[in-house]
Amino acid sequence: MFGVRDVLFALLGGRCQACGASMAGTLDAESLVRLCAHCQPLLMPRRGGYCPLCGEMVADQGAVPLVCGRCRRDPPPWSGLAFFGSYAGLLRDLLTGFKFNSRLGLGRLLQALAVEAYALHGACWERPELVIPVPLHPRRLRARGFNQSLETSRLLARELGVPVGAEVLRRCRHTRPQVSLPARERRENVQGAFVADEAAVLGRRILLVDDIMTTGGTLRECARTLRRAGASNVSALVIARTAADG
Ligand SMILES: [Zn+2]
Ligand SMILES: [Zn+2]
Repeated sequence: MFGVRDVLFALLGGRCQACGASMAGTLDAESLVRLCAHCQPLLMPRRGGYCPLCGEMVADQGAVPLVCGRCRRDPPPWSGLAFFGSYAGLLRDLLTGFKFNSRLGLGRLLQALAVEAYALHGACWERPELVIPVPLHPRRLRARGFNQSLETSRLLARELGVPVGAEVLRRCRHTRPQVSLPARERRENVQGAFVADEAAVLGRRILLVDDIMTTGGTLRECARTLRRAGASNVSALVIARTAADG
């Protein structure tokens, strides 16, 4: 099993960004992701068997992506969702390890996976004009010192050649953690919790970025807020999505 200690040793340079193992041979300097032969197959992007709107996954990873029944009945407030993979295995260990030990090269690896997810799922989308991170709760921001989604947004924006809207979307009131709540209370919990800078958003195509989509309630509320503020289109990207949409 992959431990947090291993994560701590993840370094850049001639080392695997996931486990820190020394890597022999020549490295592709252009590549954003450097993984050893052990980690590489454990960190493969999800290429099929998911709903392109909400990311709900089916067992067959080779299945052609199909809009699920739920999204047909009640489409999400975004036009597409890109994600790297299921919140499980090594990807989950990396995200968990990063949450508690936000140092070294791990953040860079996670950001690179986000870029890969965009290349895979977002390549056919109309290019966004602004990248906006889901704002972290101020209390969590104080505890962690930075917002991982903002760092991911910065790299994505650089790759896309568009600006980042770091302050465009803000939390305007306290919310309880979504996972602690029963499904029916989640929407109420986040409803009206965000405000968007209309001048920055009006008429623009926006890519909304978060690290993990668990219940999807926060991401949905952020997308709704941006659309209400006049965004012409909102698409979403997360690094990992939990397998069950609770
Ligand atoms: Zn490795
Ligand atoms: Zn769906």
